[in-house]
Amino acid sequence: MKKKKILLIEDSPIQLKSIELTLSRLGHEIITAPNAIEGIEKTYQCIPDLIISDIIMPEINGYQLCRLLKNDDIIKKIPIILLTQLNEKLDSFWAIKAGADCFITKSNKHEEFLEQVQAFLDKTDFIPEEERNQIIQEKKAENKNLQTRINNLLDQSLIESTIINEFRNLSEYIYSTRILAKELFNLMFSLIDFNVAAIFFNERDEKKKKYLQLSVENVCVDDSILVELKKDFFYNSFSEKDREDETDYDIEIVEIHSNSDNKIKSFSELQSKIIIPITYANKVIGGIAFYNTRPDRFHKGKVLDIIIKELKILMRIKWLYSETKYLAIIDGLTGLYNRRFFQQTLEREFARSKRHGTNLSLALFDIDHFKQVNDLYGHQFGDKVLAEIAKIMKSSLRKTDYVTRYGGEEIILILPDTEAEQAFIPIERIREKIANKNFEYKNKVINVTISCGIADITGNVHNQEELLLRADKSLYESKKTGRNKTTCFNVCLKD
Ligand code: GH3
Ligand code: MG
Ligand code: MG
Repeated sequence: MKKKKILLIEDSPIQLKSIELTLSRLGHEIITAPNAIEGIEKTYQCIPDLIISDIIMPEINGYQLCRLLKNDDIIKKIPIILLTQLNEKLDSFWAIKAGADCFITKSNKHEEFLEQVQAFLDKTDFIPEEERNQIIQEKKAENKNLQTRINNLLDQSLIESTIINEFRNLSEYIYSTRILAKELFNLMFSLIDFNVAAIFFNERDEKKKKYLQLSVENVCVDDSILVELKKDFFYNSFSEKDREDETDYDIEIVEIHSNSDNKIKSFSELQSKIIIPITYANKVIGGIAFYNTRPDRFHKGKVLDIIIKELKILMRIKWLYSETKYLAIIDGLTGLYNRRFFQQTLEREFARSKRHGTNLSLALFDIDHFKQVNDLYGHQFGDKVLAEIAKIMKSSLRKTDYVTRYGGEEIILILPDTEAEQAFIPIERIREKIANKNFEYKNKVINVTISCGIADITGNVHNQEELLLRADKSLYESKKTGRNKTTCFNVCLKD
């Protein structure tokens, strides 16, 4: 068996001797240190395969020793076992938080202790002698004393916790993508040296237009370069399979400190870049990119790691926020807006029309003999028909129109700036489209028709209820006079 090097750190001479004696039964080489300071020195001098350390020691304790050693990119590979005195939960918690690989409660059961150490040794790899010597030489050359290492660690911890804290404070702005992007850019600019930064949130919502937000610092760029940058960013953020259509995103500069002396003439002048797509559950939920005119500006490292980690959390919160908002207004079966959204939107649009003196139409649809469809082919097929009709409607209207599920098989459209007569033609087109659609049920073709009633706010329509009532009356007229047709409200229907 090849001997491993175990470094044992323990401030009580009696315990040190006793544990050393116990450990020697495993047949490995044991190096001892009577306190953490010597322990750290010996770690750097001989690069052990395993460190076993007491926790309660004067000056530097076991947790601090752990933090110090685990902060060194090379030394952190050496596993550390902390010996906890009491079987206290908090001891174990801090041991793991400090970076310990394992903790073992001190006891008089030597066999058990050895078994645990052995199990740990079995699963850790040897450091090859050559590599060990190389590390020892490198560390010697670094020539850092313990105080420098401690200072570095303290600085770094402070930087890390400050950055984390700054990011957490940003969650306050998740309600506004623009403000959030602006605040993020400000924070980023204090951490990363960039000329152009770009961010997008791939949110779950019904927004008609999404934005790639940009921050431009100390350069002058024209739109054509920004368009290229957008392409580059999106191309590198998504795999081909789930590539987001970049044309869905408009460019919006939210922060600019332009410098005409530093004009960028072509995209290739942005010599260094770093593009970070942020994914969650295999889905790109957003991304951030930085560009700089100077080469080799962005380095991977701890700060970037923290930024990515924190961005991931922030984007995830933003995504959940948008999803919650989305689910609150969208009907699950059809993907149309729900009745709550309808009510809010109608109220808003009605007030707007009255204020601006513009017209507003409602078109109320109801599927003909839908009960029969359900009875003959089952509810599931009925659901499918409903969902397909919703899809046809959504794709046949202007983006400014609202398609909402009013009730069971009733769909209602809010058409701002539209008179009933104007609405009639596109509504008829939709009605015909649905009447001509062949729904399939077990290789059988089923046809379904819908009826519609349209009303606008011409005349004395004082409130939304009156408008709704008129649409309803018109629909009833369509039903009464044969179905599969559209009726516009007129005064004769009043009674
Ligand atoms: P009419 O032409 O007069 O409108 O006849 P109809 O059978 O469509 O009218 P009625 O209002 O009597 O029935 C509506 C039916 O729509 C009843 C219900 O089973 C069905 N329905 C409502 N919501 C849903 C749904 O979400 N899924 C399915 N599959 N059916 C629904
Ligand atoms: Mg009905
Ligand atoms: Mg019906």
